[in-house]
Amino acid sequence: MSKTTDISALTQGVQAGDRRALARAITLVESGRADHRADALKLLEAVGTDKQALRIGLSGTPGVGKSTFIESFGLMLTGMGKRVAVLAVDPSSTRSGGSILGDKTRMDYLARDPNAFIRPSPSQTQLGGVARRSREAVTLCEAAGFDVVLIETVGVGQSETVVAQMADLFVLLLAPAGGDELQGVKRGIMEMADLILVNKADGDLKAQATRTCADYAGALRLLRKRAQDPEGFPKALTISALEADGLQTAWQEMETLMSWRRENGIWDATRKAQASFWFGEDVRQGLLALLQDDPETATRMKAAEADVKDGRMTPAAAAAEVLRPLKDRLR
Ligand code: GDP
Repeated sequence: MSKTTDISALTQGVQAGDRRALARAITLVESGRADHRADALKLLEAVGTDKQALRIGLSGTPGVGKSTFIESFGLMLTGMGKRVAVLAVDPSSTRSGGSILGDKTRMDYLARDPNAFIRPSPSQTQLGGVARRSREAVTLCEAAGFDVVLIETVGVGQSETVVAQMADLFVLLLAPAGGDELQGVKRGIMEMADLILVNKADGDLKAQATRTCADYAGALRLLRKRAQDPEGFPKALTISALEADGLQTAWQEMETLMSWRRENGIWDATRKAQASFWFGEDVRQGLLALLQDDPETATRMKAAEADVKDGRMTPAAAAAEVLRPLKDRLR
């Protein structure tokens, strides 16, 4: 994409739901180049925000069955006439292409479905950058008229929190486990989940999955009830992504939850809170970038960092020293 990117043509393409235009638009928002950034902002402004998709955050450790789930769940939804977009937020991956969706063999059928759009995570290591781009990609998918946007992440570090900040509901995929393994799921992640799906409830694993599900249902009941939930939520269900079993029920539960949240103003309030969160993030990231781009500040930062490392200054004093000229200028 060059300086001559035709933003109005791209806007029209996205709004018409053209997947190639959407892919190009996402490439544009993923670009780190300053001129691309300016175009990206124009594009995001132009596509508007009148269309809304259901944004579903999906997390689970590698091997739990995320791609199998996305494939069968996605195909079920497209079978119902819905258009489905899949995005990944994966800050940590160092695999080729840096992407958990990079493997071409994943979601083969869904990838060929004309009503689906699959986009791998940008290969970047900074969560902040990946997060902003993914959020903008979600906006573009909405503008392109997708009904459901699935945002996938592996259960590492802060990525769940970031995904939860761009999703309307959060689904946690878990594997059948022995009782003591329940401890392995971090409390914070349990608290984030609207729906826990215990996958692989088939064949020899079925009984174990049912037990695990009951354990998680019990654990969820012990968590404080949240104001954003109707009676019975958050919930734990068993599914088999491989056999496409339990997926209809899972979808019905998601719909129940979402209509309740819409009716009670929670959907709207959540999106507003998320918008303000991302505004704050963008300001913080922007400030940091400004500081790092200023050669004088960068030099002073390096010197101060060395002083801190060698014990000549405390971290607090060094930071205050670096920021002092800036403070003076802003006064
Ligand atoms: P991901 O790393 O979370 O994306 O997991 P995958 O979707 O790649 O699945 C990991 C393995 O679990 C693969 O061998 C799948 O075939 C298997 N798997 C996924 N879902 C199911 C399921 O519902 N039942 C069974 N028995 N195996 C499954």
